Amino acid sequence: MTNRNYKQIVILSGKGGTGKTSVALALSDIAKNKIIVDADVDAANMHIILKHKINLKIDYSGGKKAEIDETKCTKCGLCEEVCRFDAISNYSIDRASCEGCGFCCRVCPENAIKFELVKSGEYYNSSLEDNSEFYFARLMAGEGNSGKLVSKLKEEALNHLHENTEWVIVDGSPGIGCPVNASLTGSDFVVMVIEPTLSGFHDFKRLTELLKIFKIPSGAIINKYNLNKDIAGKIENYLSDEKIVLLGKIPFDNNFSKAIRELKSIIDYDISYTPLFNNILKKIKSLINQRGVKNETGSYINR
Ligand code: SF4
Ligand code: SF4
Repeated sequence: MTNRNYKQIVILSGKGGTGKTSVALALSDIAKNKIIVDADVDAANMHIILKHKINLKIDYSGGKKAEIDETKCTKCGLCEEVCRFDAISNYSIDRASCEGCGFCCRVCPENAIKFELVKSGEYYNSSLEDNSEFYFARLMAGEGNSGKLVSKLKEEALNHLHENTEWVIVDGSPGIGCPVNASLTGSDFVVMVIEPTLSGFHDFKRLTELLKIFKIPSGAIINKYNLNKDIAGKIENYLSDEKIVLLGKIPFDNNFSKAIRELKSIIDYDISYTPLFNNILKKIKSLINQRGVKNETGSYINR
């Protein structure tokens, strides 16, 4: 269904542990008429906190893997010799190490190696108590290609837009890897969450460089800003130099970890945070409206 009244925002952080998911949960609580996507598929955790009912489970395959049929194998050892990934030993293939190149299958003189699509994970369409839809995924241990799973997950979510969907809120992966790139596709705005530490600042700069390539507007939230006011000040100067909007500053507060322990968003746990996150969402809306949202061809509309 085509609906471009909605705004798609992605919450990212240059590194893990910055409070990205707390921010995603708070913004999801504030936003009305939303679809929520937990695109941090390597370490999904929103489903632990959001009370949801699963409507549909879909198997995901990241690609093909090789498997030796013992009944046909004559133990010639050729497959082990040619596997560059050292995935074969004692005429058996370690699935986690198999990169799915298919070479062993082609060289086996006995045609004893199956090379088929295998299940690498699952993704879910679920509903929250307020009838919002919530999409999340699980990647099986040792499986790669999480970027492809993020794309599948987002595609599933965007196939279920409603006429009145206003927000698609995507909690992305930390870092700047393949799943982050996949989560950025089609997004209108990126919310970057940063903590005032030297490593946090460094990783944040790498993320801003990536966003320049994608040309997606962004804003930053400094979390726990009062833990190191010196670095927080440097981050603010950097934001100003780079013309990145400071969306808000969140103080260090044990209530954030208490909220997570009680499986609540910070808004649910401590209502005094409502104005702060209301204000952040209003700023995001205004910044998106200034530029417009992209249509299917990548051009901006609603200017
Ligand atoms: S190449 Fe084929 S026959 Fe030879 S060890 Fe491998 S699976 Fe067995
Ligand atoms: S498919 Fe490629 S990586 Fe996997 S076991 Fe065969 S040769 Fe090794």
